[in-house]
Amino acid sequence: MAVTLTIHDDLPRFLAKPLRGKAIPPIRLERRTSIKDFLEALGIPHPEIHRLLVNGREQDFACPVGPDDRIEVFGLPLPTDPTLPTRLRPALPALRFAVDANVGKLAGLLRMTGFDTFFEPTMNDEALAEISRRERRILLTRDHTFLKRKKVVHGRLVRHHKPSEQLREVIELYGLRDRIEPFSRCLRCNDRLRKVTKEEIIDRLLPLTIKYYDDFRICPRCARLYWPGSHRERMLKIIKEL
Ligand SMILES: [Zn+2]
Repeated sequence: MAVTLTIHDDLPRFLAKPLRGKAIPPIRLERRTSIKDFLEALGIPHPEIHRLLVNGREQDFACPVGPDDRIEVFGLPLPTDPTLPTRLRPALPALRFAVDANVGKLAGLLRMTGFDTFFEPTMNDEALAEISRRERRILLTRDHTFLKRKKVVHGRLVRHHKPSEQLREVIELYGLRDRIEPFSRCLRCNDRLRKVTKEEIIDRLLPLTIKYYDDFRICPRCARLYWPGSHRERMLKIIKEL
């Protein structure tokens, strides 16, 4: 008697190398365990799992593994919508992110494209996991052990190395292409920018900026100014690349 496992999508990447081939040899169950702990012991972080079938029936993470169960594991579909509840986790009220220090440039790009992104590079993993739980944010990281923390409910291991590809990856995974709002969020504070008239801030502008630009926004927290000549060129270039 042994557990038969079928791992779908790109989840085999999390298994130890000898198990990464298509057919995983049956696994003898050594002790009583939940399916969540069983799969994490094999290397698959729970936030990466979208659906579980045990002997053909949909189950949740708490389901105990039986000695001769047939288990099928599915990864997040493309696109995936975390604002809808699944058997495995509750829905998020909105799509917001908490970004690990190891993907810091991605945090800047997400803010640049208008997505609510918590980023505090000096924060330790435990505190960041707590923020993601309390503020109900999707945790993005390159560290798969981080994703195994209990506090992380919604999370994703960022696959790519290059920041612009990481941004594309996140936008495609969560189907965000139509929700990109460049020039809408402070790159430093994450606050939403508000429009200001040129007259309100004219004493902070250089003569050439006054001459050529009319569309200004300000961060309500840090008072940093944004206008087409400041960051917009770079934003538009990145968005065009997407
Ligand atoms: Zn700001």
